[in-house]
Amino acid sequence: MIDFKTLADRYDTPLYVYDFDHITERYRELKGAFSGKKSLISYAVKANSNLSLLTHLAELGSGADCVSIAEVRRALMSGIPKYKIIFSGVGKRDDEIEEALREDILLLNLESEAEMERVEKIAKELGLQARISIRVNPNIDPKTHPYISTGLHENKFGVDIETAKRMYIKANNSKSLYPVGIHFHMGPQLTELDPIREASQIVADLVRSLKAIKIDIRFFDVGGGLGIVYDDEKTIAPYDYAQAIFSTLHGLDVTLICEPGRFMVGNSGYFLTRVLYEKVNEGRRFVIVDGAMNDLLRPSLYNAFHKVEVLGKSEDVSEADLVGPVCESGDFFAKRRALPATEPGDLVVVYSAGAYGFVMASNYNSRPRPAEVAVTEGKERCIRVRESFEDLVRLEKMCL
Ligand SMILES: *Cc1c(COP(=O)(O)O)cnc(C)c1O
Repeated sequence: MIDFKTLADRYDTPLYVYDFDHITERYRELKGAFSGKKSLISYAVKANSNLSLLTHLAELGSGADCVSIAEVRRALMSGIPKYKIIFSGVGKRDDEIEEALREDILLLNLESEAEMERVEKIAKELGLQARISIRVNPNIDPKTHPYISTGLHENKFGVDIETAKRMYIKANNSKSLYPVGIHFHMGPQLTELDPIREASQIVADLVRSLKAIKIDIRFFDVGGGLGIVYDDEKTIAPYDYAQAIFSTLHGLDVTLICEPGRFMVGNSGYFLTRVLYEKVNEGRRFVIVDGAMNDLLRPSLYNAFHKVEVLGKSEDVSEADLVGPVCESGDFFAKRRALPATEPGDLVVVYSAGAYGFVMASNYNSRPRPAEVAVTEGKERCIRVRESFEDLVRLEKMCL
């Protein structure tokens, strides 16, 4: 049990707290599920890129899936070996490509023919061979939320099977490119196994047809998207997930790569905020807290559900909105939730805030971003200090 009250007293609020032991459990659970084959867990750094968190994952043996060169730098800085680092993303700048090639990371994941031409040109100029994988779009409906699904042709990610095949043949004929991997990603919060199995089957078929023309794909990257429980969602057990993928790989000797973000860190994180006061507007009750949408954006951005709890209070429960002080009506953490009567200073815990929480925080309304604390085996340590006013204005003062 994490002592939220002590942490809030010591580090003030709003505050992010991460249970690193939970991250360890998640890592081992997933790694264990893939144990029937060679595998690499490449944590999706975009979910939470804190250096201490990455160091913790590095010590467990994790790799990193990065979507900017700064994420690659964070991974390297945290001790994740270069041969476990992947650079993905639908748009990469020339300088990012160049740095990734010079750093000699495991592979660059490509999402278009135009991008492949850029990578080929840059690799040639550097006199290097670029290890690449291609993100294919198997065009399977993942059956998740329509705004967040990424597996259908109507979105910007990846290339279709025919284009991918053409790209592999071209890459195989280039001295500057070395096609070693294939990748697909179904999108977040996957809840169904059938679409994953179907997509994996389509991609595995492509790998077999490439093998028939002597293009040997060694890394089979199934992306991320394993879901977590925020409320009462159905989730997929890692073991079943791995078995569904294994069932499509007969005749192939590949290393599986999995890129979990949310699964690894989502449930390990808590956002702590204190009640400022309550108000009632035309019969609607609002509990106003010192945290806001700039600190934790998911409710405002996706209308995402997070469980909330007022610590130590259970009396006089009635419906209320839990809102922040930012000047936007979209600034809320919970709407029409049964909440107890509160007093100023009461501590509120917002659950499952470890993924896409701090990384999406901004300084909107000139609010310094919160501190972050990690708890390991009952001991806590600060892993990012609270921003100060000086931090907010430093870069502007340099131009005055
Ligand atoms: C965002 C992303 C991930 C991680 O997604 P989660 O839903 O957090 O697991 C993995 N791979 C790619 C390509 C992504 O874009």
